[in-house]
Amino acid sequence: MIGTDVFKITKTKNSKLASLDMDRLPFGRYFTDHMLEVDYENGAWGEVSIKPYQPISFDPSLAAIHYGQAIFEGVKAYKNKAGEVFIFRPEDNFKRFNISAERMEMPTVPEEIFMEGMKQLVKVDEAWIPEKHDYSLYIRPFMFATDEAIGVRPSLTYKFMIILSPTGPYYSEPMRIYAEEKYVRAVPGGVGFAKNAGNYGSSLYPSAEAKRKGYDQVLWMDAFEHKYVQECGTMNVFFIIGNTAITPSLNEGTILAGVTRDSVIELLKELGLNVEERRLSMDEIVEAYKKGTLREVFGTGTAATISPIKELAYKDFVMKFDVDKWTVAPDVKKRMSDIKEGNVEDSFGWLVKV
Ligand SMILES: *Cc1c(COP(=O)(O)O)cnc(C)c1O
Repeated sequence: MIGTDVFKITKTKNSKLASLDMDRLPFGRYFTDHMLEVDYENGAWGEVSIKPYQPISFDPSLAAIHYGQAIFEGVKAYKNKAGEVFIFRPEDNFKRFNISAERMEMPTVPEEIFMEGMKQLVKVDEAWIPEKHDYSLYIRPFMFATDEAIGVRPSLTYKFMIILSPTGPYYSEPMRIYAEEKYVRAVPGGVGFAKNAGNYGSSLYPSAEAKRKGYDQVLWMDAFEHKYVQECGTMNVFFIIGNTAITPSLNEGTILAGVTRDSVIELLKELGLNVEERRLSMDEIVEAYKKGTLREVFGTGTAATISPIKELAYKDFVMKFDVDKWTVAPDVKKRMSDIKEGNVEDSFGWLVKV
């Protein structure tokens, strides 16, 4: 166990906090006073430093930029009414981070560095956590290859960092999306289950195409038949049919195992719905829509929590939903924010105190 003495903490003398407008916090735009940084070389992680937020500089041959060994996580911290600070399910992000690391042939990060480092950093910048409803501190751990040499091979050196961004309500208009039948995000045996930078780079063109066609996002389909649902943009997706919630299973390794997805599954069960994790075809969805049993469709992820989908197109068929009449998605969203913000008992044990 690494003790807190291994964390070398250097505090800034010039806090930017006073210049922050706590009422206007668009997602991912402002960063706190400090960051965590630790380097991996000669097969071991070095000293962990928490220091003033600052640029980092590299040689143009930096391996990560050329060959893509780069992974990340997204976590949120909250302050309750008593001013206590909690992080939502960080152990799940820690485990997923190392699953991504292994798939990308990168070293795993020890729990002490990831978990204790995150807590220490959040503590140092505690004053940056907004206390208002729907506000939080977004935590971004990431790791990338730092060898300075050209040539395709796993890097021998890496940098792990954590940065923090105070964020306001991620107000998400109900989305209009379509089932993507040309471009694919992930294939069995590929990297769809990893939170690696390349997955996002390759998704930008299809997402931009969707916007050019007047939609908000694409619904990714399986790579072979383009008919089984995977996920929506960077969110997992749920379909409420009758009294059953269906979400694609993780078995094929083609979707990200979302922490929000897992939490929503628990909350749906609590609401009395049956939850099925399985293959789901667009034909089945269209059939349910035509029968009038397809009630709600929504995406789930840390940034937006739950994003209603008000329109879903498949080939020439368009399914439309009256989002204002929904009950499941709003109930789950409310229950989730009540737990996160400490308004109700955390009966699932999801909160980790800082
Ligand atoms: C991060 C992410 C999600 C959501 O995961 P959460 O842990 O719920 O934030 C879903 N899909 C993709 C592709 C993602 O990158």
